[in-house]
Amino acid sequence: ISWTAEDEAIIATNTDATECKRCAVELGYWKDDYITYFAKHVDRKAPEINRGYYARVRAMEMFIHQFLERCDTKCQIINLGCGFDTLYWRLKDSTQAVGNFVELDFQAVTSKKSHIIKRNKQLLEKISNEDGEVMIREGDLHSDGYHLVSCDLRCLGEVRRKLAGAGVSPDAPTLVLAECVLVYLRPDAAHALLRHLSSTFPRCALLVYEQCNLGDKFGEVMVRNLSARGCALAGEGYCREPAAQAQRMLSLGFQAARSWDMHTVWRALPEEDRARVEALEMLDERELLLQLNSHYALTVATRGDIFADMDLNA
Ligand code: SAM
Repeated sequence: ISWTAEDEAIIATNTDATECKRCAVELGYWKDDYITYFAKHVDRKAPEINRGYYARVRAMEMFIHQFLERCDTKCQIINLGCGFDTLYWRLKDSTQAVGNFVELDFQAVTSKKSHIIKRNKQLLEKISNEDGEVMIREGDLHSDGYHLVSCDLRCLGEVRRKLAGAGVSPDAPTLVLAECVLVYLRPDAAHALLRHLSSTFPRCALLVYEQCNLGDKFGEVMVRNLSARGCALAGEGYCREPAAQAQRMLSLGFQAARSWDMHTVWRALPEEDRARVEALEMLDERELLLQLNSHYALTVATRGDIFADMDLNA
């Protein structure tokens, strides 16, 4: 398999995200017993970056819990462009381990993740079947309730085939996660994927975290920095404001959709959480954090009445 230089740059964004998460975890922003397996040594990041990652992880978690509250654990989670996300293991340690958890990414990422899982007992013991086995099929890792499969999200046929192979059922309540992923797909590919998901799952919630408002000066710098690393932001939608992102989800078959910039999300987090995090590190550049937060958005799009009231303050 060969990757284009651009694919490689996109694959590398996972390393970056994992290192930033590990740094913030080490500084006490949130707890994650598994991230150290996926990023060995990391340099300290700027306080604004750590705080941004805290809001991102905390906000995703908040909506994941809202989803699980509404349908209990007889459900499935599909993690698009999962990278080295540790959510599966974190849920497994809580009372909220779900029926089926499926992770998709480029093969360069899933094969590394699979290798790390197999080498570390603490990761492996949480996914293996009763006899301690995991199955490798076509290079993908399958076990009862956890599947890590390679897939190019731009190829809908492959997405369908891999989801079916991972035992995904259209009838189960489904949570789809897209954390900093869709932004790397061209609009036609992202739209086809989202339309497919909304039409396949009558009871589903989609969480999208990614850049927004990229049309202004700060946004232009963000785009330039990414393209300097060889990484094009392909989606046209990312110049738009959050309200337009929600509108886009409605036009792609979701019944309800809401979107907020991360400044709004941050202010909606419980006061005690914000106070705790604010005490962790001095912020040198308050303005920079504000700019960063207003250039990222969280969008929640749903189908089915049970999820229609998922909201920032629900
Ligand atoms: N979701 C993870 C997180 O937030 O920590 C990883 C985010 S990382 C910025 C983006 C991920 O999306 C990378 O792992 C990359 O390989 C994956 N990705 C981007 N385009 C993809 C595609 N067309 N097919 C599969 N995976 C893709």
